[in-house]
Amino acid sequence: MNAAANLTRPTRVHQIAVVLWVTLGLNWLVAALKIMFGLVTGCMVIIADGAHSFSDGTSNIIGLIAIHVSASPPDNGHPYGHQKYETLASAVIAFLLFVVSFSIFKEAIHSFIHPTQPEVNALSFGLMTFTLVVNLFVVWYERRAGRRLKSDLLISDAWHTLTDVLVTLTVFVALAGIYWNVPRMDSIFSLLIAAVIVTTALGILKTSSDVLCDKAVLDLGQIEKIVRSVDGVQGCHQIRTRGRTDDIYVDLHVLVDNEMTVARSHQLANTIEHDIKNAKPGIHDVVVHVEPVSHQH
Ligand SMILES: [Zn+2]
Ligand SMILES: [Zn+2]
Ligand SMILES: [Zn+2]
Repeated sequence: MNAAANLTRPTRVHQIAVVLWVTLGLNWLVAALKIMFGLVTGCMVIIADGAHSFSDGTSNIIGLIAIHVSASPPDNGHPYGHQKYETLASAVIAFLLFVVSFSIFKEAIHSFIHPTQPEVNALSFGLMTFTLVVNLFVVWYERRAGRRLKSDLLISDAWHTLTDVLVTLTVFVALAGIYWNVPRMDSIFSLLIAAVIVTTALGILKTSSDVLCDKAVLDLGQIEKIVRSVDGVQGCHQIRTRGRTDDIYVDLHVLVDNEMTVARSHQLANTIEHDIKNAKPGIHDVVVHVEPVSHQH
């Protein structure tokens, strides 16, 4: 069995929370440094990157709220559990990123029309080097924890932080351009950062909407092969899969001999459920609808 299945949910939630708190602290540390420094030197590209880091921290907070809600056990109101709240939070993060990129677009276009010459010195490059080191640490840290804990939230945040590394590198290029007095470098690269943030947001929105809109998550051919290999199954159709990769729901129809007893067909359904769960990790439930071979629908 995989490691995540062996952890009880509170332990998993606690571990995800620790990762998010550490990431939040680092994001807001570099955000504060960049925004203050950018304001002092009048360098918009650094302010834009700082705003971006600030929104990254805000998304960590949404993540923290979401995992605490999603950890609560199924109840009468939510009999399938609360895990999709984490997916919903990812979608909210995406919208937040749209807002941040819009404000950067607006500022960048304004300064493109009315250009200013910001100040760039050794400290500018030093600050961005520090940001780069922090980004790379967060990518490594979140991705490792996300895989171990099977958390979409941590993995998508790690992907996001990887785009932060690229953004930080483009800030270096912008600073070099400003340093060598190339006109409008500040606004052009701010626009580029805004475009990167929009792309990230679209990616997160795609992943979370796939889960929320019940996109198929498993290969139907593989499921059918497992079902057909069970003794007594004469056919199989209407296979449906949905949910998060750590919380998958499967339902399907099987054809059996017309004269099979209820007791035997119930046993058959249990075997099918057991075999599918064994073959594929992350399956929460399998519902089997049994049909006599002459009355299939
Ligand atoms: Zn970011
Ligand atoms: Zn039963
Ligand atoms: Zn059927």
